[in-house]
Amino acid sequence: MTENISILGSTGSIGTQALKVCELLDIKVSALTANSNIDLLEEQVRKFKPKLAVMGSEEKAKELRIRLADTDTKVSVGLDGLCEAAAVDEADTVLTSVVGMIGLKPTLTAINAKKNIALANKETLVTGGSLVMKSAKENGVKIYPVDSEHSAIFQCLQGCPDKKMLRRLILTASGGPFFGKTYEDLKTVTVEQALKHPNWSMGAKITIDSASMMNKGLEVIEARWLFDMPVDRIDVVVHRESIVHSMIEYTDNSVIAQMGVPDMKIPIQYALTYPERVECDVAQLDLTKLSSLTFYKPDYATFKCLRACKKSMELGGIAPVLANGSNEAAVKLFLDRKISFTDIGDLVWDSMSAVEIREINTLQDVLDADLAAREFVRSAVSK
Ligand code: MG
Repeated sequence: MTENISILGSTGSIGTQALKVCELLDIKVSALTANSNIDLLEEQVRKFKPKLAVMGSEEKAKELRIRLADTDTKVSVGLDGLCEAAAVDEADTVLTSVVGMIGLKPTLTAINAKKNIALANKETLVTGGSLVMKSAKENGVKIYPVDSEHSAIFQCLQGCPDKKMLRRLILTASGGPFFGKTYEDLKTVTVEQALKHPNWSMGAKITIDSASMMNKGLEVIEARWLFDMPVDRIDVVVHRESIVHSMIEYTDNSVIAQMGVPDMKIPIQYALTYPERVECDVAQLDLTKLSSLTFYKPDYATFKCLRACKKSMELGGIAPVLANGSNEAAVKLFLDRKISFTDIGDLVWDSMSAVEIREINTLQDVLDADLAAREFVRSAVSK
């Protein structure tokens, strides 16, 4: 069980909920980081008194230093600051809940500093899965999933005596706000429509990823690395109610599911208390109040991002990095109203043929591929 934590991305949706869990479980906080939300970070520092606080930019770090002059908290900045927070002496666990592949280097730093990882930043495994899992093994650290689907699978696996008995993983997907729509319909959707998720309240980037089903594609890749499972044995089913958080199927056709109300505090807490379970501040699941649970095949033709993620794993090497990097760049352009919703899927798909697919041997290979994907998107959109 976690006793002392460093939270990378403490002002986001996962970070704020994680701090509620820490408060309840009396977990000490040694470092907190935020990209830009200085007011909330200041408030969190005053409450949790970490040794270190990190802001995304030099300008904001300067301001935070002035605001926190009456405290003992040191303020650092940027990616170096994130890495410093990832390796802070006192913490036994690092929760990575930053947005995007910027989480990769700090995660590797935390692993090298022998910290267990509570992983909410899926882009880390999507882009650097081979490096991260190898390094975790070498350093003897554990990676506990915070993503609700992966936490569900992790929970289901607690009763699995031997992985040989496992046939497949079944990830559930809510289907997002555009379930049942055609590719034509999606061409004209607005930012506001895409930001309206039916079941989960999350940050902007992951909400757009959920609408495009890129999120589920990223989660398939994340599951591949976390559970060392080939992608052709990871299935996706659309489950509109978000009650079944994911399932595993054994060779005897028995299926084990993890269920609960859609509240991220359950997977966050389990990642921090594993292998123990303690009371959690979420509603109980009342099965008699559910009218039905529905399951559908995903529409791979309409949701090109989901298709692209599967294809990226067939291509291997840097292909998932290209899919992720082009998506991060494209989502930003969509939120800035520079491209249409379906442009996101087109750019993600095209990035994998625009850049030569190489193998990943080092972190630099990942960073180079990410940059190439972003440059591809920039040049494709400016044309
Ligand atoms: Mg998820």
